[in-house]
Amino acid sequence: MNHNTDVVIVGAGPVGLFAVFELGLLNLECHIVDNLDKVGGQCSELYPEKPIYDIPSRPRVSGQELTEDLMKQAKPFNPVFHLGQQVEKIEKTSDQLWNLTTSTGNIISSKCIVIAAGAGSFVPRKLPIENINEYENTSVFYSVKNKSLFINKKIIIAGGGDSALDWANDLASIADVTLMHRRKEFRAAPDSVSKMLKLEKENKIKFIIGQLCSIKGNKGYLSGIEYENEDKKAFLKADYLLPFYGLKMELGPISNWGLNLYENLITVDTEKFETSVSTIFAIGDINTYPGKLKLILSGFHEAALMSQKCFSYCYPDKKNVFRYTTSSKDLHKKLGF
Ligand SMILES: Cc1cc2nc3c(=O)[nH]c(=O)nc-3n(C[C@H](O)[C@H](O)[C@H](O)COP(=O)(O)OP(=O)(O)OC[C@H]3O[C@@H](n4cnc5c(N)ncnc54)[C@H](O)[C@@H]3O)c2cc1C
Repeated sequence: MNHNTDVVIVGAGPVGLFAVFELGLLNLECHIVDNLDKVGGQCSELYPEKPIYDIPSRPRVSGQELTEDLMKQAKPFNPVFHLGQQVEKIEKTSDQLWNLTTSTGNIISSKCIVIAAGAGSFVPRKLPIENINEYENTSVFYSVKNKSLFINKKIIIAGGGDSALDWANDLASIADVTLMHRRKEFRAAPDSVSKMLKLEKENKIKFIIGQLCSIKGNKGYLSGIEYENEDKKAFLKADYLLPFYGLKMELGPISNWGLNLYENLITVDTEKFETSVSTIFAIGDINTYPGKLKLILSGFHEAALMSQKCFSYCYPDKKNVFRYTTSSKDLHKKLGF
């Protein structure tokens, strides 16, 4: 589908979300794309329950609470979210416009691009198994999008963290589930571990100690897997394999966008946080400049300055009059107060 907007923000972490607010104050419309299927970036993916103590005026706020409050703050400006898709390609279509193409085929046309991509996209850790990519998205899945696919099937879930145990517990009611991990100790929440052990006792989940070493099948369709346990190899029949070994972060397609990089970070000027390419900005953990601190508050400051310059690109004929949110009636109306 094609969309048009003033600004596309790549990354819905805390800094991308605050950028929606800062751009909104200047009447700039935003679309925001994230590879994950939820907003909040590292705050919601890596430490939702952990308290953060250095957000100004928030003595203690969890990663999840901060994300929810940033969403509330952005809401009056009606940002359009495109989640579960990665921005793969950017192309200049005219002097003033960019086209961004996402992994699901969305094309968004915008005047400016703001890269708020943190340390890059969260991507699943893959198994070092040679032919695994032949089976991905037919028999091997790194996330569960459609549970009905697994009804009455033989599934192997590999891993010992939250995703592995949560999905093993969840799918046990509709499928023949085997959980495989290298030892009978888990990194998942104690609740999920107790539930899994209870289901195992009731013969609703099978548990195997072992490490996957190869997968067997034909034309992308799995017949089973081979695993190793105390130097013995064994074969296990399976229709589907769900490897849940956690997520890692990769800069991904951004490295092909022709921007100046330094150690996988985007260099910017500190006046407007613009990259080496005019009308493309980089804010938050993804950028670098002398003295950079990878903190949420640094990203918030960068979003404010970036927005001023974006305004001049989007409205070259308009004067940007500086206004405080406390005293501007127009801003109160926009914010719904
Ligand atoms: C355990 C832990 C504790 C922390 N504690 C604190 C703290 O106390 N105080 C503090 O200030 N900071 C803390 N941090 C750091 C803080 O979380 C980061 O500074 C902050 O998340 C950076 O925000 P961001 O929006 O720049 O990037 P991120 O939060 O990394 O979000 C970037 C988003 O961009 C998406 N993305 C990347 N590339 C693409 C693409 N091509 N297409 C689509 N989407 C893409 C990613 O999926 C991700 O969701 C902590 C970090 C960790 C890991």
